[in-house]
Amino acid sequence: MHAINEFVVKIASRCNLNCDYCYEYNMGDDSWKKQSKYISLETVTQLKFRIVEHLKDHPEIDQIFISFHGGEPLSVGVERLQNYCDVFKQICNEVPVRLSFSTQTNGVFLDEKMINTLKKNRVFVGVSVDGPKEYNDLHRVDHKGKSTFDETQKGIDRINELAKDYFNSVFAVIDLRIPPLEVFDYFGSIGVGHCDFLLPHHNWDLLPPRYGKSKTAYGEWLYEIWSAWIGGRNKHLNIRFFESIVRNFLGAESLYEAMTDAPASLITINSDGDYEGVDTLKSTGNSSQVLGYNVQKHSLNEVLEHQAVQQRQIGIKALCDKCLNCEHLKRCYGGYYPHRFKKLNGFKNESVYCDDLFYLISRMKEDLVKYKKLQNNA
Ligand code: SF4
Repeated sequence: MHAINEFVVKIASRCNLNCDYCYEYNMGDDSWKKQSKYISLETVTQLKFRIVEHLKDHPEIDQIFISFHGGEPLSVGVERLQNYCDVFKQICNEVPVRLSFSTQTNGVFLDEKMINTLKKNRVFVGVSVDGPKEYNDLHRVDHKGKSTFDETQKGIDRINELAKDYFNSVFAVIDLRIPPLEVFDYFGSIGVGHCDFLLPHHNWDLLPPRYGKSKTAYGEWLYEIWSAWIGGRNKHLNIRFFESIVRNFLGAESLYEAMTDAPASLITINSDGDYEGVDTLKSTGNSSQVLGYNVQKHSLNEVLEHQAVQQRQIGIKALCDKCLNCEHLKRCYGGYYPHRFKKLNGFKNESVYCDDLFYLISRMKEDLVKYKKLQNNA
């Protein structure tokens, strides 16, 4: 059993936006409709108890990460957010551990009061935005179908002005119709240090849109950015997806739970206190994220014994034969877990992005070999 040190806490179950690709609301899972709008202080206090209990059982953990998610997490308002932070901070009085807060937001609620609250509690902020306005508008609209870009951009400008050190990252979901370098250059221009490009959540029963492009189109899209980046474009940016693959080439520890054989160390807790596997599993529309356990009744050690969690703890044993025999196994590890899903046989499949990943990793490898030769000759 590998202990949990990352807690994705769904502090709000509703969102002010209605992005069409959202796995929470628009991919067949309607569990949010029955959940509390905001997590209660009682649930947060009980979760704190569960985390302390877990840390006492696992003294090897010296740092935990609590990430506020939603819905739109910042829709809880400053008072609730402050109360949640106050409760979680008590963990450090009870066990010797470092605690880091972060949140993933659409940026619309980033007004001065909210930014000051985030700063005061040292909450690092990631903003979801798909690039310049015309591209962001393709998916990221409000409930009336209207653009949300201007409000997100205002939030980004405000946090740059008031709490730059806490503006941590931006994430875009890839759309093959968008020129990759335009998104990349937009990220390069908005004062952030970390970014990522996310493959949209699809699986073998819900294939990714390819818009008539090739079967490696997502790999090619990403390679265009990689190629520009290693050529020096926007070199101030860290790009998690690429860095993670490079770390895999070097045999270093992975940066996040996609593309790794490390046991899963992340658990999601919804606004009713139910533990869930990775929340992106909702994209399978199969309730695969549901564990049937709640913070009121179950400890985190019990959660670790759940078969669905064990499946994410057994590393390459969870992979299919195609992945096990793949030359890029130790760079790709079958891609992201939810992307392997097929109703017929669950998760023992290669990623639905297998061809893209194989293409991208092969090209990256060629570039890294060229680079090493250049260095050796220098
Ligand atoms: S490239 Fe494809 S076959 Fe190879 S490890 Fe990744 S998903 Fe599996």
